[in-house]
This record gives sequence, structure tokens and C-alpha cells, in this order.
Amino acid sequence: MPVIAIDGPTASGKGTIATRLAAELGWHVLDSGALYRLTALACLRRGIGAADVAAAAAAARGLDVRFGARIYLEGEDVTDAIRDEAVGDLASRVAALQPVRDALLARQRAFREPAGLVADGRDMGTVVFPDADLKVFLVASARARAERRYKQLIEKGFSANLDTLLRDLEARDARDAQRASAPLVAAPDALKLDSSDLTIDQTVAQVLAWWRA
Ligand code: C5P
Repeated sequence: MPVIAIDGPTASGKGTIATRLAAELGWHVLDSGALYRLTALACLRRGIGAADVAAAAAAARGLDVRFGARIYLEGEDVTDAIRDEAVGDLASRVAALQPVRDALLARQRAFREPAGLVADGRDMGTVVFPDADLKVFLVASARARAERRYKQLIEKGFSANLDTLLRDLEARDARDAQRASAPLVAAPDALKLDSSDLTIDQTVAQVLAWWRA
């Protein structure tokens, strides 16, 4: 059951690259960030804040989710709702709680498939799949990431401010890097890939080349 782990900071393009790789290889994909976002949404709906560690962990343990072309929480399509900034913000706070991470561990490992899995997140290569066959640590400069997110938002018809996006990105990077539970670090055996000046096609091609080498 081969696994390719793709880790890296916010908006480094992991999701896009993981989805493309999975399609190329005919494998499944795990968007682990979505599980933290689903936990955050479940917390928001129950009025649970990140300060209530036990309740947040219980929400993570009891998540009633279904993944497919769309993502369902308790039977409701929340594919768009979990991308909301408020949900992302709480996701990064509940993700700093070790009991929440523990509660989601087995659920993430259950995504392993005989066909193969591309797992996208922050700790895929370090914690969830330490035995992954290939580990990639995908980075891009904060400016390149902010510019990509800006373009995406404008294309979807939202208004956006590049400086605000850049500041938010840097704040989230700092929080992910400094937290006591599972800070964002590359696995010692991960291959680093800087996509600042690469297209999506070039980035996917590099990972495939490593996989096939
Ligand atoms: O990747 P995404 O932005 O969807 O993830 C939402 C939040 O979940 C991140 O800010 C990060 O703090 C957290 N996360 C994590 N470990 C993962 C995936 C996401 O801590 N494997």
C-alpha cells in the first residue's frame, strides 16, 4: 500500500499537487487539512472554542464525515463551508491541541488504500505515515503563496487584498511552526521542493520523477 506524503506550509500548493499526482497514478488522496477544518466547523456549530480541549477532542473523535467528490458533515454538503477563513482560523487553533491530533490519527491512517495514497498535510511524513515511500516537503516563498491565493480569490469573484493575505499567511506560518504539538517541520528523509518559480505541471513532474526513480 504505497504512500506519497506531501507536507508543507499554508497555500504551498499541496492540495493541487496531491490531487494531480493521485490522478496521474490512479491513487486515492487524503486532504488531512479538511479533517481539521471539519473538526473546526463541528466546533463552531456547537459553540466550542479552542480553549475547551476536551470538547474539541470529543468533536474530532465523533466526526460524522463522508469524503468523495464533495465533503459531507452529518449528511450536509460542507465542501465550500470548510474553506471559509473563520473555519481555517479555528482549524489551525484546534490543530495545535494534541488530544485533537490524537483523535484524528487513526482516521487518517484508515485512508491507506491498496492502490496507493497521496497524503497532503503538515505531518504526513513525520507522524501519520512515517513509513511513507516518498516524502516531499513542498515550499514556496510567502509572496508567491500570497499571490497564488490572491489570483484564486479574484478568479472566483471575491475581493482580496494582497498585503492582508501576505500578513495572514505569515501569521499562520508562525503559528504552525511554533506550536508545541506537531510543529511544521520536514521529515529528515523528505525531499524539499521549492515551487516559487515552478508551474503546477513542473512541480507534479518533479515528484513523479522522484517516485519513478
Ligand atoms: O491545509 P489546510 O489549510 O486546509 O489546513 C487547515 C489547518 O489545519 C492548518 O492551518 C493547520 O494548522 C492544520 N493542519 C495540521 N495538520 C495537518 C493538516 C492541517 O495541523 N496534517
